[in-house]
Amino acid sequence: MSMDSREAEQDMDIQYLKGVGPTRAKVLSDMGIATPSDLLNYFPRDWSFPPDIQKIAQLKSNQEVTIAGIIESIDFLPFRRPAMLEIYIADSTARCRAIWFNAKYLQKQLDVGQYIIAWGKVKEYKHQLQLSNPKFKILQELPQDNTNELSGAVYPATAKLSSPQIARIIKPLVEDFTEDWQDFFDDNYRKNRDLVTTQQAYRWIHLAKEQGQVDIAKRRLKYDELFLMQTALAVRRHRSHNYMTAKQIVVDKNLDSRIRRRFPFLLTGDQSQVIDDIVKDLSLKRPMNRLLQGDVGSGKTVVALYAALAAVANKSQAVIMAPTEILAQQHFLSMEKYLKGSKVKRAIITGGLTGAKRKKLLDSIEAGGIDIVVGTIALLQGDIKFKEMGLVVIDEQHKFGVHQRATLRKDHCPHCLVMTATPIPRTLAMTAFGDLDVSVIKNRPPGRGAVVTRWVDPKHRIDAFNFIAERLKIGRQAFFVYPKISNIDDGEQIKAAADEYKKLSEGYFKDFKVGLLHGQLKSAEKKQIMDNFRAGKIQLLVSTVVIEVGVDVPNATMMVIETADRFGLATLHQLRGRIGRGENKSYCFLFSETDNEIAKQRLDVMTRSNDGFEIAEHDLRLRGPGEMFSARQHGLPDLKFASIIDDYDLLQMSRRDAFEIIKNDPSLRNHIPIRKALIDKFEGKIELVDIG
Ligand code: ADP
Ligand code: MG
Repeated sequence: MSMDSREAEQDMDIQYLKGVGPTRAKVLSDMGIATPSDLLNYFPRDWSFPPDIQKIAQLKSNQEVTIAGIIESIDFLPFRRPAMLEIYIADSTARCRAIWFNAKYLQKQLDVGQYIIAWGKVKEYKHQLQLSNPKFKILQELPQDNTNELSGAVYPATAKLSSPQIARIIKPLVEDFTEDWQDFFDDNYRKNRDLVTTQQAYRWIHLAKEQGQVDIAKRRLKYDELFLMQTALAVRRHRSHNYMTAKQIVVDKNLDSRIRRRFPFLLTGDQSQVIDDIVKDLSLKRPMNRLLQGDVGSGKTVVALYAALAAVANKSQAVIMAPTEILAQQHFLSMEKYLKGSKVKRAIITGGLTGAKRKKLLDSIEAGGIDIVVGTIALLQGDIKFKEMGLVVIDEQHKFGVHQRATLRKDHCPHCLVMTATPIPRTLAMTAFGDLDVSVIKNRPPGRGAVVTRWVDPKHRIDAFNFIAERLKIGRQAFFVYPKISNIDDGEQIKAAADEYKKLSEGYFKDFKVGLLHGQLKSAEKKQIMDNFRAGKIQLLVSTVVIEVGVDVPNATMMVIETADRFGLATLHQLRGRIGRGENKSYCFLFSETDNEIAKQRLDVMTRSNDGFEIAEHDLRLRGPGEMFSARQHGLPDLKFASIIDDYDLLQMSRRDAFEIIKNDPSLRNHIPIRKALIDKFEGKIELVDIG
């Protein structure tokens, strides 16, 4: 049969398949399955390979076993921690205990006197052998010696279609439909990478006779997922390197020193190195796509400003985007400070800017009357046109999704610098950000006072307050941070910003100027409060996490974080990054009386480390990658088999392979099956103009 008719067959309506028919076809279609190809891609959720049945008297500890017998007793033990369900199974030789944790619901499925077959690892517990959390099946009669029927794939079932029913539909298809599949890769390629054919992988994922086959099949399916993702990234990168043009921005010695003179300090070695990278990128005729990673306080803003000024000197406009309005305002302020007396025209766009004023500014931007525009996400909203946008800087990228990055770049072809203070684990650097070049600022500017972090029991709060008051008196400033604005909405009883603001400003800190900042204030109010804090007119700023990213007030050397266990590590580190920015020693007090083990570990990490990369590693371990960086947020394709953390080696290998293939065959003319799969999977999601 030719490939084409084979493909047509895979797309046919499944109601004509053996054992399906119109009724089942409807059930399947409700499960999202309409074609044989959908069925082949309906993967098992688990596999089970119970060993041969053994007599209970012959069991040995620490082995995978299967036993079959009669249920003698069933007891639910609610007061054990965790609660457990306990049964005894007896065969002709002996009895064996089996337990399930937190499984009261199993009580309904089990009855004394039933025949049961159960399998799992048997262990000795208090001189007795026991199976804990075994898999099992209730039987009509006692099986003799074969467990074949229980072997193999377990499919996600529904009320209308059980796993064995699904298996019976899929099994005959697998051989038939995969018969002459063309593989992406030839024998040699596969052998070198220890991969079976895709055909073999599909056969074994559905029809495996032992766990080893499942593992081998999974390896190939994981590889394919990762490979296609990396190929998409390689195509995107190839495209931006070869087809997209950008205005060349040239920085000569003269311009370099003119820009550096604007800053009241010497740039650090790391800053200069990053600037070298950027200058090289900008000098090319293709758009820069660079990610700048640097811990909080490492001095990324100056780098952004350098790049912006280089663009402006080359008669281009530059945009600096921040995730929050407070940050945009702050970028604007530091820019104003550095550019005092300069001819460079700069403006800030915020949500508060409306009507005629907004229109006037937009007109001016379109006419080229503004050189540098600072703003928030509002900038992305589409009605802003530039005369010649040469550079986009996106600050704190972890707050944006990849898609926003793409949106912004649709009509223009500017150079793009993405900055983040959240260290990105190496796997993500290769996936979500896999089409970017990376620069890192490792060391902070000199002359920073140390930050001492203490985890304080709330009963010593007054000692901490005394300590803080002493320092407020000699001119330092403090942040007091709370998990939320008030308890009104949820009736909780934790310290909240608005209530505590009232208490502190009328009580313990009544002799000081106390301010309140939170996200529900109007943008003009927020700006006023930050201005006052920066100017020292507010000494103690009560706040929510709105101050989390980027805020830079070097004279603020103290921070109190109440109910600190409510915050994740990344947030705590970002918050603490607001202090320790000047020459004076800084102090961070974490108040918490939590019992939660994970939360305690977080606080402990905070008291021990000031290093963002180290903290991110702990975070990854404590939270797991899924929560830390949700795939969706980063625009990653859904991976069914592969994990970007656990399958790091495969990820690396597939990335090398994909980039190599695209280098030699950018439009995939000689790799038609790959090309087709790529289009199937990513069409509309990423730009694939080269191959589409
Ligand atoms: P982040 O990387 O967190 O965005 P910032 O750009 O806000 O850091 O810089 C933090 C502080 O360090 C600012 O007060 C800035 O003025 C200062 N700074 C930046 N570069 C230098 C330098 N080379 N020498 C001294 N201070 C610097
Ligand atoms: Mg910053």
